Amino acid sequence: DIPVITIDGPTASGKGTLADEVAKALGFGVLDSGALYRVTGLAARRAGLDLDDGVAVAAIVPSLKLRFSNGNVFIGAEDVSARLRAEATGLLASQVAVHPQVRTALQQLQLDFRRLPGLVADGRDMGTALFPDAALKVFLTASAATRAERRYKQLISKGISANIEGLREDLEARDERDKNRSASPLEPAQDALLLDNSALGIEESVTQVLGWWQQ
Ligand code: C5P
Repeated sequence: DIPVITIDGPTASGKGTLADEVAKALGFGVLDSGALYRVTGLAARRAGLDLDDGVAVAAIVPSLKLRFSNGNVFIGAEDVSARLRAEATGLLASQVAVHPQVRTALQQLQLDFRRLPGLVADGRDMGTALFPDAALKVFLTASAATRAERRYKQLISKGISANIEGLREDLEARDERDKNRSASPLEPAQDALLLDNSALGIEESVTQVLGWWQQ
């Protein structure tokens, strides 16, 4: 059995960084499942589709020609990594993610990331829907204020201008949509271990997860 560690939680809780660091420490691969919803939202918007039409949006997934290379995402020859990380793309992602047809269309793509020696998967439903047999499930939370501040610093450090109040409103709107949808809503798996990292640095969170893994 190929081991999986799942890290689920709300927007900007630090899942991506934690997943990367834990994977690096263990020599595991990483699945950034949010990137798949982001790429789908972006492609649907570019194709002029109605984002409320789950059937139409799901139908473009097989033709996307996605490629993942060194943490970058390509649609055909175009590196869309920077576009994917934009806050606006996160909102598109959460709009298309409500549709069960879209979630089903992205399912196998995600399962294919499970390769030896192991996988760290981050998202909203990794421990509940995609990898219910994961050996370790973490549900990562942080206060909305902390998350908005982190996202703000992240954007500023990349030279992208941002507004902290607007960011907080956006991420709370996205959390609400993610929690209240009927298809794979954001919620901790029953056997998930909760980690609130509001007052923790990244190294402390990594140490905690590696400690759980070694138990
Ligand atoms: O994690 P990230 O912010 O990149 O996710 C973008 C959006 O994609 C989330 O707000 C959520 O709506 C959706 N998503 C999801 N299931 C996942 C990962 C992301 O529904 N496993």
